[in-house]
Amino acid sequence: MYRLVRRGYIAYLVGGSVRDLLLGRVPKDFDVSTNATPNQIKKVFRNCFLIGRRFRLAHIKFNDQIIETSTFRRCPEPEENGSDELYVFRDNCYGTPNEDALRRDFTINALFYEIGKFSIIDHVGGVSDIENRLIRCIGDPNIRFREDPVRMIRAIRFASRLDFNIEPATYNAITRHSAEIRKSSPARIFEELQKLFSYGSGEKSVRLLYKTGLLQELMPEVSQYLDHDQSQDSILWSWLRHLDDRIKETGKLEVVLIFATLLFVPIQRLVAARFAEFEAKGERVSANELLAELLVPVCVRISMPRWMSARMIQIMTNQSRFVPDKRKRFSKRGFAAQEGFPETLALYELGLRVAGEDLSRSEPWRALRKESEAQLARITAEGGNSEQV
Ligand code: ATP
Ligand code: MG
Repeated sequence: MYRLVRRGYIAYLVGGSVRDLLLGRVPKDFDVSTNATPNQIKKVFRNCFLIGRRFRLAHIKFNDQIIETSTFRRCPEPEENGSDELYVFRDNCYGTPNEDALRRDFTINALFYEIGKFSIIDHVGGVSDIENRLIRCIGDPNIRFREDPVRMIRAIRFASRLDFNIEPATYNAITRHSAEIRKSSPARIFEELQKLFSYGSGEKSVRLLYKTGLLQELMPEVSQYLDHDQSQDSILWSWLRHLDDRIKETGKLEVVLIFATLLFVPIQRLVAARFAEFEAKGERVSANELLAELLVPVCVRISMPRWMSARMIQIMTNQSRFVPDKRKRFSKRGFAAQEGFPETLALYELGLRVAGEDLSRSEPWRALRKESEAQLARITAEGGNSEQV
């Protein structure tokens, strides 16, 4: 920022980092906005790469950090096509700092920090919303959410992660437009859902998704499970609470485990219902086959990558192996050596915690896994040696 300012440009720290610094939290990353164009930025920094086709951004590398540096831009006017579609297809255009603040999603995300004067520039009332712990759309929420429905999930993400309330007009607009989430690109939805559940506030996020109607659009199986349970203390909340605790303890968990936890109980109920239908007809069917079959459309709807859905199905179907059953013979050692075993065991252990059972039941499995890892390390080391010879 100093270097840009010395060359006569304006440069501010923007977005989530300013918000997090004001809240006394450690920012994940730092973004800078400037009136220099990408090509002008490139002339100022040797360590700079331009990325993005729709909107050019500069990535400036400092040691092992990348500072994303964008040129101030404004919100494009929606196409005048006579319909009431607001979805923004067109690329953004460069704009003034004020326009750049106004195109952002929420007031708390639109603050600028100016290094020269050590001051915050607030075009949208974001400082008072931070003080009052409120998520508020910039402009008319009914328009902003229709322009980009993913913002509805983002509102819930910030409310849960920062423990803020959603201001009433913003909240009501989410409930009104929840069905429009389906217009967003599936890849963006999946990315936002991952972020939503990955930081230890999954329970609050799912409660908000459910109350606003977004869950019914994104994962109707989970939403209908909660409708059916009708209770504030559904067992699902307990699963999510334990999951959040694990995330807080360990820093981060595998995304596939997070989705498996969210879906495990609701899907099991569907499996049981379907199983009973088959039994009534006198037909034999495997519960695991039903489980896999029922999970496929769920994964497709949230556009989970294929490898991840395959892994999730594996994690869930393998839960039955932890239940002692003399009729089912399989190699425990082979099972513990499987690639997805750590997540499979983690889901099992989470279930033990939810049921208030003794975690020592998973000890033998942990030991088997350790053994197989040690064996693998030995083989790899031997392979390395023989190559040297
Ligand atoms: P995090 O700490 O999770 O990274 P963040 O606020 O930095 O939070 P990003 O997704 O990294 O969130 O986005 C950076 C900034 O870009 C936001 O603070 C916001 O100002 C703006 N922004 C991001 N997504 C949108 C969107 N869909 N609509 C409008 N502005 C957005
Ligand atoms: Mg960010």
